[in-house]
Amino acid sequence: MAKEFFGALMRLLSNPWQPVAFAGRQPCPYCRFTGGAAELRFEDVAISVGANNLFVPARDEAVVYVAPSLIAHYIDAHDYCPPPVFQEAVLDCPEMRSFAYLKKIKEKGLVVARPAG
Ligand SMILES: [Zn+2]
Repeated sequence: MAKEFFGALMRLLSNPWQPVAFAGRQPCPYCRFTGGAAELRFEDVAISVGANNLFVPARDEAVVYVAPSLIAHYIDAHDYCPPPVFQEAVLDCPEMRSFAYLKKIKEKGLVVARPAG
């Protein structure tokens, strides 16, 4: 797996857009005693691990991939290798919360709604 992919994943995870947020931190089920670190650093990016989800529009298909932030920890610490289509989608993904990103999410069929009022 390319370092370039991991860097792109970390950048997206540093400020992920998500339509729904779940409270509380999910520990890593593979780190038996510690549940894994709550923060992960790579180059100049730091992310919190275990609470956020990442929404990444697929390159071609009408699909939005959803991955827990723990995916970065699984890759870094537990030899997890995501499928190539997901890696491509991450490398293609526009900056989180940018107009281009939200447009792609909407094109894939995920409804982006703002609360009224
Ligand atoms: Zn772990």
